[in-house]
Amino acid sequence: MKAITVEPKKAGSAELENVPEPDVRNGSVLVEAIAVGVCGTDVEIAEGRYGWAPPGKTRLVLGHESLGRVVDPGPTSGLKKGDLVVGIVRRPDPVPCPNCAVGEWDMCRNGQYTERGIKQIDGYMSERWRIEPEYAIKVDPTLGILGVLLEPTTVVTKAWEHTLAVGQRAFWEPRTALVTGAGPIGLLGALLGVQLGLEVHVLDRSQSGPKPEIVRALGATYHSCSVADVGFAPDVVLECTGVGQVISESISILGASGVVCLTGVGHGGSVPKFPSADVASSAVLKNNVLIGSVNANKRHWYKGAEALARADRAWLARLITGRQRPEDFAKALGRGPGDIKVVIQFAEV
Ligand SMILES: [Zn+2]
Repeated sequence: MKAITVEPKKAGSAELENVPEPDVRNGSVLVEAIAVGVCGTDVEIAEGRYGWAPPGKTRLVLGHESLGRVVDPGPTSGLKKGDLVVGIVRRPDPVPCPNCAVGEWDMCRNGQYTERGIKQIDGYMSERWRIEPEYAIKVDPTLGILGVLLEPTTVVTKAWEHTLAVGQRAFWEPRTALVTGAGPIGLLGALLGVQLGLEVHVLDRSQSGPKPEIVRALGATYHSCSVADVGFAPDVVLECTGVGQVISESISILGASGVVCLTGVGHGGSVPKFPSADVASSAVLKNNVLIGSVNANKRHWYKGAEALARADRAWLARLITGRQRPEDFAKALGRGPGDIKVVIQFAEV
């Protein structure tokens, strides 16, 4: 079968190649791939900056934002042939650490977890893949190809869950949320904020393209100014850019008792005179909390699938701005400026 593979840490090594049928050790459920979303992590792996092949192999099948159709449910899954499923990405570490032991592999303490398509387990960019029944999440069949948005949705499902849990350390009635960055994570985070009943604002540097209208269609407010100029003090900032200045300004404008949740992973950059002490004073005097959030555990996959099932299909469809054939995977990895989510489509839904 065909698969998109890469030799990790070797730039430009991504190829569409013929590989053996999926290894039965990866699970008793056999799935036909429908689509796989591409994100910044895939681009980094293809650029040779990140990624680990499975033990004893030199190449890794890429892809962690899956959607597929069950071909053979196996003896124990409870799934049916034809069900649409998405595969969980992370697997607990083998020790396991206390968090992995209780199923919170997203909070792994020792970093020895593995991840499909990223770290030591083949991913989902192959015509067929196998999965353990307990890591296959069934999605609402009416979502169709939109089920490929589940993985990024789980990331913001966890971020919102932790943000609300932290906020509730005291009496707290959040009303407004600012989401910084209108990529897939930001827009899905905004969707969840609207579903929570919050007044949602989304900030992005784009002044044209599809993002402003997509935000308005959600019933949220779009800003293309700096964070410092949004003109209100949000109860929550969901930070999805990883940009230093956006982060420091988010802390500065946050409302009393507010929470900043960081989900963006930036790299270096200049931090001109970052006023650490002033930002800290502002946080002290407003009882602010700054949290980081990464990945998701099974509860977030379940809740994320529910959130997608509730969402407006036409709105979700606007997030998928490109579909490429496996042969054209390089086009999917080199996203255009107006792109939100590009997927590689292996089969029709
Ligand atoms: Zn662990």
